[in-house]
Amino acid sequence: TTRVFSAFQATGRLTLGNYLGAILPAVRLQDEAACVYAVADLHALTVRHDPAVLRARTREVAALLLACGLDRSVLYLQSRVPAHTELSYLLESTAYEGEMRRMIQFREKSAAQEEVRLSLLTYPALMAADILLHRADLVPVGEDQRQHMELTRDLALRFNRRYGETFVVPEAVYPRVAARVMDLAVPTAKMSKSSASEAGTVYLLDPPADIRRKIMRAVTDSGNEVRYDPAGKPGVSNLLALLAACSGRPVESPVHSSYGALKKDTAEAVIEALAPVRERFAVLSADPAELDRILAAAAARVTEETSGLLAAARLAIGLA
Ligand code: ATP
Ligand code: MG
Repeated sequence: TTRVFSAFQATGRLTLGNYLGAILPAVRLQDEAACVYAVADLHALTVRHDPAVLRARTREVAALLLACGLDRSVLYLQSRVPAHTELSYLLESTAYEGEMRRMIQFREKSAAQEEVRLSLLTYPALMAADILLHRADLVPVGEDQRQHMELTRDLALRFNRRYGETFVVPEAVYPRVAARVMDLAVPTAKMSKSSASEAGTVYLLDPPADIRRKIMRAVTDSGNEVRYDPAGKPGVSNLLALLAACSGRPVESPVHSSYGALKKDTAEAVIEALAPVRERFAVLSADPAELDRILAAAAARVTEETSGLLAAARLAIGLA
């Protein structure tokens, strides 16, 4: 069977970008493959954080992923499985400093901070470890992860070549529409859960009134023609992609006479798509003990199922 893995950082509240770019594709893959998904709480330590907030966010992200429909997979917390950090070190010892520094995400995130944590630089090694540990064939991710996915493949190939066949070389899968959801207020920037752009970010738990307000105030482009053209009309194209992804219809159908009409349709489609997620989240939140039980069982299972791969990697690289 095909094996699937993906992870979501516990850096903030999950966004519509996370949902369309990775969560929905991950939900769909459950029908055809063996899926394992993680809340990447270790990755959340790469940027400034508050311990209590991280702990709460981690649980919220886990419950929300279940509410989105990832309840037919193994869902666990990255930090509960120490094999991630151990394999990460083996991959740091396979990667080069230069290739880490070339990562666009490192450049962008480090430029936005005064104190850059060393873990932000080594982050792609941990991400590669997450994926390779599971011998994943497919990794559903958004477009922004393209460079990290290529590095993951490079590291797997390099390790296999040097030390013998150990890792499965994974394939990224990007959604056909909305693979890169843009910020509604700054349509040239990616929508991110850790960005400060509250007005431009739709969170999965936003009440309908907030979603409507944010989309109706979305920055659009000059002119008034509704046309899909991401380079020339980033704002309008972003709304068209959101509408298509949330309604399941192709981009640019139906035809809209004005920006206002497009925004209205988009807002309603997004609200409708997220309504069941909000409802299920409310139910799950009422039973924290059940969430603990699910996460504990999943961590035990992952620890067990990944021990063979970790042992093989240790042996291959020369650890006695
Ligand atoms: P952060 O700002 O902390 O990096 P993020 O919103 O980028 O948060 P991640 O946890 O880094 O979220 O990524 C989780 C998944 O969501 C990844 O597969 C990523 O590619 C995808 N994703 C993130 N942002 C978008 C977006 N704007 N459009 C489509 N997919 C996205
Ligand atoms: Mg990210």
